[in-house]
Amino acid sequence: MSRSSDLYHRALELLPGGVNSPVRAMRSIGRDPIFVASGSGSRIRDVDGNEYVDWVSSWGPLILGHAHPAVIDAVTEAARRGTSFGAPTEGEVELAADIVRRIPSVEMVRMVSSGTEATMSAIRLARAATGRELLLKFAGAYHGHVDGLLAQAGSGLATQGIPASPGVTAAAAASTVIVPWGDFEAIVHATERHQLAAILVEPVPANMGVVPAPPGFLSLLQECASQTGALLIFDEVITGFRVSPGGAQERYGVQPDLTILGKIVGGGLPAAAYGGSRELMERVAPAGDVYQAGTLSGNPLAVAAALATLAQLEPAAYEQLTQTTRLLVSGLLDAAASAAVAITVQSVPGLLTPFFSENPVRDYEGAAACDLDRYGAWCRALLARGVYPPASQFEAWFPSLAHTQDDVEHTVNAAREAFEELGR
Ligand SMILES: *Cc1c(COP(=O)(O)O)cnc(C)c1O
Repeated sequence: MSRSSDLYHRALELLPGGVNSPVRAMRSIGRDPIFVASGSGSRIRDVDGNEYVDWVSSWGPLILGHAHPAVIDAVTEAARRGTSFGAPTEGEVELAADIVRRIPSVEMVRMVSSGTEATMSAIRLARAATGRELLLKFAGAYHGHVDGLLAQAGSGLATQGIPASPGVTAAAAASTVIVPWGDFEAIVHATERHQLAAILVEPVPANMGVVPAPPGFLSLLQECASQTGALLIFDEVITGFRVSPGGAQERYGVQPDLTILGKIVGGGLPAAAYGGSRELMERVAPAGDVYQAGTLSGNPLAVAAALATLAQLEPAAYEQLTQTTRLLVSGLLDAAASAAVAITVQSVPGLLTPFFSENPVRDYEGAAACDLDRYGAWCRALLARGVYPPASQFEAWFPSLAHTQDDVEHTVNAAREAFEELGR
């Protein structure tokens, strides 16, 4: 028995499904999870000694790759000074200043410990600021496991949600209005019909696979929000510091009222943030009346990791990330073509998804119509060849600054063999 499967069997007795977050179980690609022992740069090693080129990058945070020396040094040094104080520290002020410098729509920030918590808190603030309760989200978007956002569409174009998980109250789900991604008419209709506190959007949806907005859609959201008195909230947990130095809002030139950050902003440690104009953020306690708190918020180790990570993210880094993304996209397309397998690869710099679909994927319905069994078989074949892909068709691949041309070549060769195996 391999060490990984031994651990998995023990884990099944102790952790629900053997894991601490569902996608890690690899069920949707039809295999058991891989237990990781270590990571360095673009590579991870499992507990059985197998090495993989890692395209998951901890689902986004590790834009510098695993165990980057600058991050490890910063965290180690911070740990020696003490791991948590529950009192303000200098690093938090520096990090806030760095975030505000990079993202102009953000004048003030509040640090929290996870993207879920950041979303939940930003929603509370939006409701307080507008005096309204309803939220709008898009079908297939993910904003963390906040009750009201674990809502799925009923029938019809812009419906109030129904619970997408047992344990979510009907009332929580019903305060979320759900609209298909990229549907111009539905968004106009929904914002006119419902008194919305906020439109919540992943400006580049990456949790149904990567499905960039059609041209003009993000500006329409901004227009609809401002005309109807709703706030526009960009969930930049994935896109922040990744698709450009100032996130998707810089890349597409659309300014949200509130921004949610996570993943990269923790530098690989648990941290997230929300921010916006001074006027809005000064509603947050203790400056204002909207309560929100956290024992480990602004944790010194996470702040040190974040500062060290952001320090590496200068313009040349984005050119490199763009180039790596481009190489991988074209390599995967060539590999599929040479094996006569029909796929569509969708990408923005720093993010991509190979969809097992002949047609472009424009929304959640399109993503759900992909050949999920073949994606799973292809992933299993990649893992057997030392490439670690996201274990779900509905996730993005995350190139990092640690990925080299060699990593891309190794991946493309493995992908070609894996596509050929599908054809047989
Ligand atoms: C990962 C993610 C979240 C949730 O962040 P957690 O830290 O996992 O709670 C929220 N929004 C988006 C877009 C994400 O990708």
